[in-house]
Amino acid sequence: MHSAQDGPSLAERLQSVRERIQQATRAAGRTVAPELIVVTKTHPASLIADLLELGVRDIGENRHQEAVSKLRMLPQLTPLAGAARWHLIGQLQSNKARAARRYATSVHSVDRDSLVDALAARDDDDRAHPLDVFLQVNLTDDPARGGIEPSGAERLAERILETPGLELRGMMAVAPLGEAPEAAFARLAGYAERLRAVAPAATGISAGMSHDFEAAIAAGATHLRIGSAITGNRQQPA
Ligand SMILES: *Cc1c(COP(=O)(O)O)cnc(C)c1O
Repeated sequence: MHSAQDGPSLAERLQSVRERIQQATRAAGRTVAPELIVVTKTHPASLIADLLELGVRDIGENRHQEAVSKLRMLPQLTPLAGAARWHLIGQLQSNKARAARRYATSVHSVDRDSLVDALAARDDDDRAHPLDVFLQVNLTDDPARGGIEPSGAERLAERILETPGLELRGMMAVAPLGEAPEAAFARLAGYAERLRAVAPAATGISAGMSHDFEAAIAAGATHLRIGSAITGNRQQPA
């Protein structure tokens, strides 16, 4: 149970982040606020149930297995379970892709040909829904960080465009540690503009986490992935 000495409640933290998003949107001279995806990795399914009761619908998870186990538990916790939209935001193994596309609304971490191919809707699956995907670019020099090297983005975008069942929504990135997020997000905005030259409908930019979402909004982010500022500290390292 929440009590006064616990600090702000989940509802209060959510409200405060929503207010900061509104302020940053106005400050950037934008009229429509970006979409908020609340990242719940490492937290129990009951937290997702609480968020659904508070009106949140977009839930971000970084691991397929963890998402599936929460998805299975959720109907026992809230009648709103079916209202959740699941966004996979972490590195996804190609052998998990088929299972992931069944429940995911979107995958933000598409960064290689093999994953694009694995996420394709198959001819024999007529229930397959169109899956929103973001092409993840790596803003660091470390190839282990996830994301394709920016110079390869247009070619990967073309492959996504010709793959059945995928809707390319835009570009995604995580700002590197040790660099001002403003600089990183400015580079990302440039890459996103180049992406629109080959994929005019891919207008989205998925960027901005708890510590840098205001800078992301200033740089044009359309989808924010915010965890700890809303959920509190993670239960374990993720
Ligand atoms: C964990 C995570 C987030 C959210 O991070 P916070 O700092 O908790 O807001 C956003 N994007 C990705 C890819 C993540 O793994």
